[in-house]
Amino acid sequence: MTDKKYVEDLIDQDDDFDQWYVDVIRKAELADDSPVRGCKVVRPYGWAIWENVQKALDWRIKEAGVENAAFPLFIPQSMLAQEADHIEGFAPEVAWVTRGGGKDLEEPWAVRPTSEAIICPMFAQWAQSYRDLPLMVNQWGNVVRWEDRPRAFLRTLEFYWQEGHTAHATLEEADARARQMLDAYRDMVETELAIPVVPGRKSEAEKFAGALHTYTIEAMMGGKHWALQSGTSHNLGDHFGKVYGIRFLDRDGERKFAFNTSWGLSHRVVGATIMVHGDDAGLKLPPRIAPIQVVIVPIWRKEGELTTVEEAVTRIVERLKPVARVKVDWRDDRTAGYKFNEWELKGVPVRLEIGPRDVAANQVVSVRRDTREKTPISIDELADRIPALLDTIQADMFEAAKRMLSEHTAVVDDYDTLAQRAADNAGWSLAHWCGDPACETKVKTETKATTRCIPFDQAEEAGSCVVCGGASSGRVIFARAY
Ligand SMILES: [Zn+2]
Repeated sequence: MTDKKYVEDLIDQDDDFDQWYVDVIRKAELADDSPVRGCKVVRPYGWAIWENVQKALDWRIKEAGVENAAFPLFIPQSMLAQEADHIEGFAPEVAWVTRGGGKDLEEPWAVRPTSEAIICPMFAQWAQSYRDLPLMVNQWGNVVRWEDRPRAFLRTLEFYWQEGHTAHATLEEADARARQMLDAYRDMVETELAIPVVPGRKSEAEKFAGALHTYTIEAMMGGKHWALQSGTSHNLGDHFGKVYGIRFLDRDGERKFAFNTSWGLSHRVVGATIMVHGDDAGLKLPPRIAPIQVVIVPIWRKEGELTTVEEAVTRIVERLKPVARVKVDWRDDRTAGYKFNEWELKGVPVRLEIGPRDVAANQVVSVRRDTREKTPISIDELADRIPALLDTIQADMFEAAKRMLSEHTAVVDDYDTLAQRAADNAGWSLAHWCGDPACETKVKTETKATTRCIPFDQAEEAGSCVVCGGASSGRVIFARAY
């Protein structure tokens, strides 16, 4: 029987956070390298987290009045090329299919990098009158954006996401919809993943190719305190409507172009969950999206003890099954110590230990993954106490992440401090910026920090740009980003 500590060779976060991220994904069996360059294999434990994210977001999308649909994986070149900014923005990342059915295609097909170019032409057919609007669809699927240096969940050639697309009669309605869906993302990420985010607008340089405005939620990762763009929503104006001919007869009898939005959230939020909450012992999964919420580790030495413990575990599982996702670790080729380490590495929020002495006392010992706090709980009270404990852990993890965000965000009024903070991985800098792309580029080139967003929630405050000293009416977040 091996008692070798499972997490022995997991590197400490402070020593090398990027290596910790790679190690923890492999050891916790979330994802694996694939034989296809740029692509990763998502393993069942990692996919189960993503499935829970999908469920948590899917009902929010439906609640917002949007229906799910499916559109083709391929987009003919001529359709993709119709919108100039859009194709220009995506061109270097697009994969092309040139042969099919044993023949050269008449024109190359793009493997969708995003689906505006295939959905907008359909909207053009479906929108005849103002009565047909708004059109609101979402699809869950995969897209391809060429990538040579993959990082599991964060940046892979093929990735999984949902993309929502809507068409509206007015610009105001489209903008409100883009903001509404961003808020659905904020709510899902904060409530389910226990990750606080800052919602705001992207600068012109950072916005989506072809969009009027791009809105984003930005989250602070652990370790280096870099930012991760965790979901974006675009007000596309009537730009795509004009290009793809989405015209409708309005109430006033005039034919007008529709206004569009699109919005996406990908499986990179699984990467965010790993980086925000994890520690030197491994993952720490928020209960609401943890594939296993409670793991029971029975402890026994002799045959007779096994029977006693088995009987008690059966009763415990009966009580917990209706209220939590439970697993019992009955393996007999691993020591209890090994199992404790493994389930900690895998980030299971609550571990219940039960041996013959606990059975005699009609109790289990519960251990929280986030604080390691140990508490005996009477078996009779489990069905009430465990859901309450999971709620407490969820809330405490959110608070801990909020503290990290506020401790590593600083108001910065001069360029040198901003540059120093970026170099030191000290966190986010809230600084005045005049809006000139040249100042933004200077910061990016010299410090690698980019403008993450112009937060919605800020007081109007006159100031001067940290780069050029020009007038500024508000602060933006400068940070390094994944
Ligand atoms: Zn400036």
